[in-house]
Amino acid sequence: MDFQRIYKALAAFLIFISATAGCSAAAQTPQGPPPPAYLDRLNAMMGNGKSAWTPEQTRTMERLRDAAMKDSYALDQLRHLTDNIGPRISGSPQAQQAVEYVAAQMRALGADVTLEKASVPHWVRGVETAELVEWPDQTPGTTQKVVLTALGGSVATPPEGLTAEVVVVDDWQQLRALPVGAVKGKILLLNHKFDKALAAQGDGLSAYGGGVVYRGAGPIAAAGVGAVAVLVRSVGGADFRLPHTGMTVYAPDTEKIPAAAVTAEDADLLKDLTMQGPVKLHLTLTPQTLPDVTSYNVIADWKGTEKPEQVVIVSGHLDSWDLGTGAIDDGAGVVVSMQVIHLLKELGIHPRRTVRFVAWMSEEEGSEGAAQYMTDHAGRVSDHIGAIESDLGADHPAGIYYSGKSDLGTWLRPVAQVLDAIGAETLVSAPETGEDIAGLTEKGVPSFAPVQDSRFYFNYHHTAADTFDKVDAKHLGENAAVMAVLAYALADSDEAAPR
Ligand SMILES: [Zn+2]
Repeated sequence: MDFQRIYKALAAFLIFISATAGCSAAAQTPQGPPPPAYLDRLNAMMGNGKSAWTPEQTRTMERLRDAAMKDSYALDQLRHLTDNIGPRISGSPQAQQAVEYVAAQMRALGADVTLEKASVPHWVRGVETAELVEWPDQTPGTTQKVVLTALGGSVATPPEGLTAEVVVVDDWQQLRALPVGAVKGKILLLNHKFDKALAAQGDGLSAYGGGVVYRGAGPIAAAGVGAVAVLVRSVGGADFRLPHTGMTVYAPDTEKIPAAAVTAEDADLLKDLTMQGPVKLHLTLTPQTLPDVTSYNVIADWKGTEKPEQVVIVSGHLDSWDLGTGAIDDGAGVVVSMQVIHLLKELGIHPRRTVRFVAWMSEEEGSEGAAQYMTDHAGRVSDHIGAIESDLGADHPAGIYYSGKSDLGTWLRPVAQVLDAIGAETLVSAPETGEDIAGLTEKGVPSFAPVQDSRFYFNYHHTAADTFDKVDAKHLGENAAVMAVLAYALADSDEAAPR
């Protein structure tokens, strides 16, 4: 998940440069109707409310839930995507291999598979090194390594690198308070700390939103004050000196300067030393932006029996960053969606409406795949009965985020009761549910996502540690259960979900 947050970051940055109250975090604040009266709630909890599903359909949901908890298909697919195929950055041979692999797997299940073309960025990481070459009380003749990684889309330094003094600010307010010219010709470090306490409380997404504004808007802000390069403190909770990559953006009318994320530890080091005296850094980044390439969203339809033209999307994004192998971001979202089709086949379930699996391409670098889908299916938005995306890892899901009419919460209560057995019974209204389905959400399509535990997600997300071992089989099964039960419920209800 990313690009939309970066645009929010830019919006926040524009607020900053117009010198109002500074930046605002792109946090997701669940907003919902006031809770119903106690008796209504009790009735609903006991299942006394009207249900959109018959007892037989409810039993089918229970079968899907139980099968998802036992079946290793999702985990096996994740192992292949991450260990065998590996990192799947947009435009790469591995991304193409993943497209072909997932399409073949879906064909093998008997789904109706289409590869829908999308033109996607092809940015490749090069050398990325940095070392302190001058600092207070430096031992003569030594340098000191700084651990960093280029931000997605960054331009390069000269091949031999550049050397400049470092200026550190903790936030936009400190940047604004600097004297004119203070950053000119220097490297600016935006040292905004990831809010670990907020993440520990379970709201990693808000902690991420609070920091990602600096990553997204950093190059524009830094170039605006004359910096020759920009560093941002990694937007994540990792404390094993792991840098955290992610997309950044340039503005057409400001100079494009090299941009990298330093680890939290190196950000602290730079802050400490610059408070003692002048610090110079030698920075080398050699990424390249190659011409866009043709890639694909993988679409696999499990055709509806009564209303095949009406579709319910289950999805994740197939591309990943290149530092790790994209297990939690977002191999997990892809495989729990694949699992939905697999279980429908295994259990011989054919809902009234079509269940459409989508593996989106290039979410990390601008959601080009999703944008192309909106263009290609522009005339058929009303046939989209619901859209689900899983893109917040694979930890325990506490329930379902829903975006759309407030009635959706009431409507989904019987589904939540089925998911209660695996601790996934909460229904949370949210302004957005997934980056790739945001276009559908905006057009009024009821949208959903599992409410994943995000306490640990941002310790690994976009780092070299996003690997297969981070996914727990039981939690993955719970996520697959949420996806399968919800997809079936949306695809087989008599009346479509309220919109
Ligand atoms: Zn993602």
